Amino acid sequence: MAAAAPAPEPTTEPPGDPVRDPWRDVMRLALAEADAAAPAGDVPVGAVVLGPDGTVIARAHNEREATGDPTAHAEVLALRRAAAATGEWRLTGCTLVVTLEPCVMCAGALVQSRVERVVFGALDEKAGATGSLWDLVRDRRLNHRPEVIQGVLGEECAAQLTAFFRSR
Ligand SMILES: [Zn+2]
Repeated sequence: MAAAAPAPEPTTEPPGDPVRDPWRDVMRLALAEADAAAPAGDVPVGAVVLGPDGTVIARAHNEREATGDPTAHAEVLALRRAAAATGEWRLTGCTLVVTLEPCVMCAGALVQSRVERVVFGALDEKAGATGSLWDLVRDRRLNHRPEVIQGVLGEECAAQLTAFFRSR
């Protein structure tokens, strides 16, 4: 009697995620940008804007404490810098990648800027406006609705925020 074929080795690698995996490297840039918020005591949130060809055209971190400006969230600053870099307020074809789910203000700014896509890491269940508490960017009453990809390096993004709040 022939021996049974050995069972295949169980794989320890999680299956790839074709939606989220392509954004991991850019999210790491956003995480590094978020780290730069810490010296001023700002909540570590970082954002990166990619042009239509995928090159980085702007980066920003939360600067509310650093500048005393209530609107100085990472996303708003990154959108302003991207527009300044391209000379055009319409960021058609661009992608904004941010470590934390955008708030109402930032979700509004994303719609206004006409970005093609929003990619974020951690959910903000207390104030998120990109799927958690509100879903402003995908409101069917608006005629521009960017694509949303959430949960890219979500655990790392959440851990960075948790570490910040624990250290206070
Ligand atoms: Zn915001």
